[in-house]
Amino acid sequence: MILVTGGAGYIGSHVTRDMLVKGYKVAVLDNLSTGHLEAVDKRAIFIFGDIGDERLLEQVFKRFPIRAVMHFSSSCLVGESVRNPMKYYQNNVEKTIRLINKMLAHQITRLIFSSTCATYGIPTGTVLTEDHGLHPINPYGRSKLMIETILKDLSESNGLHYVSLRYFNVAGAHPSAEIGEDHFPETHLIPNVLQHLQGKTKEVSIFGGDYHTPDGTCVRDYIHVCDLSDAHILALEYLVQSNLVSDIFNLGNERGYSVLDIIKSCEAITNRQARVKVLPKRFGDPPLLVASSEKIRNVLGWIPKHNLEQIIRTAWNWHEKHPEGFPK
Ligand code: UDP
Repeated sequence: MILVTGGAGYIGSHVTRDMLVKGYKVAVLDNLSTGHLEAVDKRAIFIFGDIGDERLLEQVFKRFPIRAVMHFSSSCLVGESVRNPMKYYQNNVEKTIRLINKMLAHQITRLIFSSTCATYGIPTGTVLTEDHGLHPINPYGRSKLMIETILKDLSESNGLHYVSLRYFNVAGAHPSAEIGEDHFPETHLIPNVLQHLQGKTKEVSIFGGDYHTPDGTCVRDYIHVCDLSDAHILALEYLVQSNLVSDIFNLGNERGYSVLDIIKSCEAITNRQARVKVLPKRFGDPPLLVASSEKIRNVLGWIPKHNLEQIIRTAWNWHEKHPEGFPK
């Protein structure tokens, strides 16, 4: 059985579903602070609770035959982390330490960790490889880098085997449109643009129009949530088949799109027109983040199947079918 922390969240719910389809048994641990019970596949065991609750973790690891942990639960908004860093150090660092401690006490030594390209900071080149320097410029990135550092140390001293996946910008929804992105408040670009095109907001804010990028807006590498999910399952198989590995991989599409590119693509796909307003830069935003995903393709054989159009189309289907998101 695989324990998925944060399995009621956007990414965790997609990976849970895909693992169940592949025949894995899954237990989801989630405090529903941002996730949705309706997003959790009914075939999974659902445990309501917090990853920082050591008594609960003790019970979970005693009761279920957990072979590996996929650890998604974390706070993950750059802007919020700048305003409230302690939330990030408590949720992402302190609680993860408790989780790993309990895992090791129960001889559970395999972990897939949700990391981020925010660990890199401002890139020195145009495409980021995993060996690029790590100089995060916001508390979110720093909190994830702290855990990566701890994982490395524990892999050398405590027999922990981990794969850390540095996500670029995850978007899109399951092709069934039964699960998708539902955050409150929503801060991410693609859902913000699509919800605006549904008439829910008066305008789309563009955070910064004078970056040193081709059109002055930030450039990001968008990856479909189902491609990301495939990578998690490949990483899990890699950890289960080999007893000695630990590794770090980027997860992106190697294509950069500016904020304006995204708005134009959303307009073209929905056949609707957006009203935009350029606002000051959002503190903590690097101008350009584009992945090299050569390593994960070579080592895990990962092949992304969705381009930007499919990312936006599946997200749009989800928003159109669930204009209010999951039932509240
Ligand atoms: N962004 C924007 N307007 C929005 C949301 C985001 O201009 O309503 C910009 C944001 O400043 C960043 C990019 O879009 O440059 C992607 O932001 P998002 O929050 O989606 O992901 P992040 O890169 O922060 O993880």
